Amino acid sequence: MSQVKNNKSYLSVIDNSQAPENFQPTPEIMGLWKAVYKQFRGEFGEAVFRSWLKPLSLQAFYHGTLEVSVPTRFMKDWIQTNYGPRILEMCIEKEDQISRLEIVVVQKSTPLDMDAETEKTSPAIKANANALAEELELSSPLDPRFKFENFVVGDSNALSHAAALRLVESKAMPFNPLFIYGGVGLGKTHLMHAIAWAIREHHPEKTVMYLSAEKFMFQFVKALRAKDTMAFKELFRSVDVLMIDDVQFISGKESTQEEFFHTFNALIDQNKQIIISADRSPNDIQGIDDRLRSRLSWGLVADIQPTNYELRLGILKAKREMLGVEMPDAVLEFLALKVTSNVRELEGALNRLAAHADISRTPLTLEATQHVLQDLLRSHDRRITIDEIQRRVSEHYNLKVSDMHSARRSRNVARPRQVAMYLAKQLTARSLPEIGRKFGGRDHTTVMHAVRKIEELMEEDASFAQDVDVLRRALTG
Ligand code: ADP
Ligand code: MG
Repeated sequence: MSQVKNNKSYLSVIDNSQAPENFQPTPEIMGLWKAVYKQFRGEFGEAVFRSWLKPLSLQAFYHGTLEVSVPTRFMKDWIQTNYGPRILEMCIEKEDQISRLEIVVVQKSTPLDMDAETEKTSPAIKANANALAEELELSSPLDPRFKFENFVVGDSNALSHAAALRLVESKAMPFNPLFIYGGVGLGKTHLMHAIAWAIREHHPEKTVMYLSAEKFMFQFVKALRAKDTMAFKELFRSVDVLMIDDVQFISGKESTQEEFFHTFNALIDQNKQIIISADRSPNDIQGIDDRLRSRLSWGLVADIQPTNYELRLGILKAKREMLGVEMPDAVLEFLALKVTSNVRELEGALNRLAAHADISRTPLTLEATQHVLQDLLRSHDRRITIDEIQRRVSEHYNLKVSDMHSARRSRNVARPRQVAMYLAKQLTARSLPEIGRKFGGRDHTTVMHAVRKIEELMEEDASFAQDVDVLRRALTG
C-alpha cells in the first residue's frame, strides 16, 4: 500500500527502545485516558469511537510521550493520519506534561477468523457449491494486478480503502453489507478484487463468489428457463462471501431484483458477508425496490470520489515503478494535470507512452508526450457532448437528429443510433443509464448491447470500422 498523505512529524515512527517494560498506568494516566474516551466519543460519535479509539491500548508513558498500541499496521496508519493530532491535543489539554503521542503496532498472534461468529456451512454443501460455481463459471476470475499493494490511497478513496481493509482484517464482520460506490474508472473493481484476493489468501476454506451484476442476472434468467431456480438459490446461499460488482445493472429487472433481495436477506441472516459496488449510492439508483434500497444501505456505504492531482501523480509514479520504465517526473506531472477524467484513462495514457518509449528508444520529452497523446489530450481539452455526437452521426448517415431519439427500429436508423451510443460511451464520461436517457429514454442494457454490437461489427468489418473511426476523429479532432 502506498500512502500519498504525509504522516504528522510529531507522531513519528516508533523507536520504543527507551520505553520501559511492564507498564502499569498510574491512576492519573488512566483518568486522563478515560477523559479522552469521553471527549472523543462526543466529538466523533459512537461508531468512530468504537472502530478507532477503543482498540488503542495504553502501552507506556515516558519523557512526555504517551505510547499506545494497535493490533495492525493499517490501523496505526489510519488513526495516525486521521485522529492522531486531535487525540494528542485532547491529551495535552488535560495533562501538559504530555507532548507526544506514539502509536505502535503490537501484533496479537490470533489469526484472522471471520468464522468465529458465523454459522458454518456443511462441507457437503460447500463442495457442491464450489463445483456448481465452477461448472457455471459463475465466479469471475480475479485480476492479479488488482491487489491492495497496488492500490494507491489518497483523500478521494481513503474511506473505501479503509473499509475494505478493515473488512479483511476484522475477526468478526464489522459491517454488512459493504457498499462501495463511485464513478467509472475510479477503482471500484480494483478494490473488490483486492478484497477477494485477501480473503482467499487468509481464508482458503471460504467460498468467495465474485461476479458482476450482469452475470448474476444472466445466470438467473438461465436458471428460470431451465426451471432450476432451486439450485440457483442454493448456490448463492451456500457461499461465505458474495461480491457483486456494478449492482446498478440490476435496477429495473423486477424478477431478478426480487431474487436478489431474497438471496441477499438469506445471506445476511446467515451472517454471510456481502460486498457490493455500484456507480452511484443506493439512494441514487433508480428503479429499485425501496426494500432493496434500504437493505443496501444497511451496513457501510463508502464512496470513491474523483481523483485530485496529488493522487493522480501518486498513481502514475507507482505505475511507472511497476512498469519499470524511465519517464521524467515532468511528464508524469503533465499527465496528472491533463488527464483528469479517471484512473483508467490515466493508465491508458501512461501505457501508451511506455510503449512509445520502448519502440523509439529515445528518452521521453514533454514534446514527445504531447505528440504521442495528441488525440487523447485534445478530447480532454474540449468536452464532447452527446448532442454533438448525435448531430455528427445523423449528418454522416443522412438522418434527422430526431431519429436518434425515436422508437424507429429499422436497421438503417437503428445501426447509426448504435454507432452514436457507442461513441457516446467512448468519448464522454457519461454512464450507460445517462446515455440511454439521451437516446429517447432507452434502457442502459440497450446501450450496453449497442456498444457490444458495434465492437463486434468493427472487428468483423474493416470498412465499417474505418467509418466509425472517421466519425471518432471528426469528433475529437
Ligand atoms: P471502476 O471499477 O471503478 O470502473 P477499476 O477498478 O476498473 O474502476 O479501475 C480502473 C483502472 O484504474 C484499473 O486498472 C485500476 O487498477 C486503476 N486504479 C484505479 N484506482 C486506482 C488506485 N487508487 N491505485 C492504483 N490503480 C488504480
Ligand atoms: Mg468496475
